[in-house]
Amino acid sequence: MTEFDTKLVHGKPQHDNNTGAVNVPIYNSSTYIYPKVGAKVDYDYERSGNPTRNYLEEQVALLENGVRGFAFSSGIAAIHAVLSIFKAGDHIIIGKEIYGGTFRLVNEFFKRWDLKFTEVDTQNLEEVEQAIQPNTKAIYFESFTNPLLKVTSVKDVSKIAKQHGLLTIVDNTFLTPYLQRPLDLGADVVIHSATKYLSGHSDVCAGVAVAKDPKIAEKIYFNQNSIGAVLSPEDSNLVRRGIQTLGVRMDRHLSNAAKIVKFLQSRPEVSKIYYPGIEGSLDHEIAEDETNGYGGIVSFEIRDDFDATKFVEGLRIIQLAVSLGAVESLVEVPYKMSHAELSEKDLKAAGISHQLLRLSVGIEDPKDLISDLACGFEQLLANKIVLRLSK
Ligand SMILES: *Cc1c(COP(=O)(O)O)cnc(C)c1O
Repeated sequence: MTEFDTKLVHGKPQHDNNTGAVNVPIYNSSTYIYPKVGAKVDYDYERSGNPTRNYLEEQVALLENGVRGFAFSSGIAAIHAVLSIFKAGDHIIIGKEIYGGTFRLVNEFFKRWDLKFTEVDTQNLEEVEQAIQPNTKAIYFESFTNPLLKVTSVKDVSKIAKQHGLLTIVDNTFLTPYLQRPLDLGADVVIHSATKYLSGHSDVCAGVAVAKDPKIAEKIYFNQNSIGAVLSPEDSNLVRRGIQTLGVRMDRHLSNAAKIVKFLQSRPEVSKIYYPGIEGSLDHEIAEDETNGYGGIVSFEIRDDFDATKFVEGLRIIQLAVSLGAVESLVEVPYKMSHAELSEKDLKAAGISHQLLRLSVGIEDPKDLISDLACGFEQLLANKIVLRLSK
């Protein structure tokens, strides 16, 4: 079994099965029988190991080309366990535009525990290099940022990291191993919010981490078991099942996103589109070199003289909600929703205006998605004419 799409469907062959069932059972057992006192057993207690969860963990390790995977009760729990391999006084370079919840974890907890952080624009390699200090231990970033889809080169950053003996940790939520395998590009640890594309149906909150080196893997396992935010057997099964259709879902996300970008480019109401598939930027160049596709997230700005809030509230098929990466299309206003925790100043510095929308393109028929967006734009125009007439 060599091809990626086949691996998605079959995962690791399983042998713990007397029934011939094609799927791994959901083992709802928090404890396991010892044949005798002091016996060496594969499983003794749910938090330390569960066959359903372990199946998923082996599945993601296989797909990311790592030695070992770990499944957690959320993406944030995965990030918590991974960053907990460091100790007080260690310095970590982090991407300037990382997931808000990751920032909160860093600012409210890890900094309190005396880990040091420097935020840099990881696309700018000079900035990365200049931030390295004698106590620097790792560089942490998202290869595609949220919501502006700025692309960082995993190859270049991990090269710098290696020269200085640092770990490279990549949050690969937006791309998934179908579109990019950071460990193959030089990273040491890859993390996912499996809540998004890996499970793909907005029905589970989960996180995974995969390590390339057995020693790092051992540390992450220690943290997973000690901190304890493990994924339940039922949820492990949902993520496992989601992964089986990752390839076909991603193909449709990609083709729908490309069609929507083309449509948005034709609309005068749209002032800017953020999508690494659009040629003529460094983001595009890096993505072209290091990914198998530009992802299913498209961000765009509505011209200042139109009401972006009215636009999203007027859509019918595309639902107004945070989160992303599922079969259904979702749109949100980062300024007021996903990034509302940022101060006015930080929003401005990040380039997130109240006119910016983030669209997670689903797998519906693209004609319906485009006609939904077109109706939204027509409504904006109609509102404007009514306003003008009433003046
Ligand atoms: C959603 C998300 C997370 C957090 O994952 P949860 O499953 O919500 O805990 C981390 N990183 C990225 C890029 C995300 O989109």
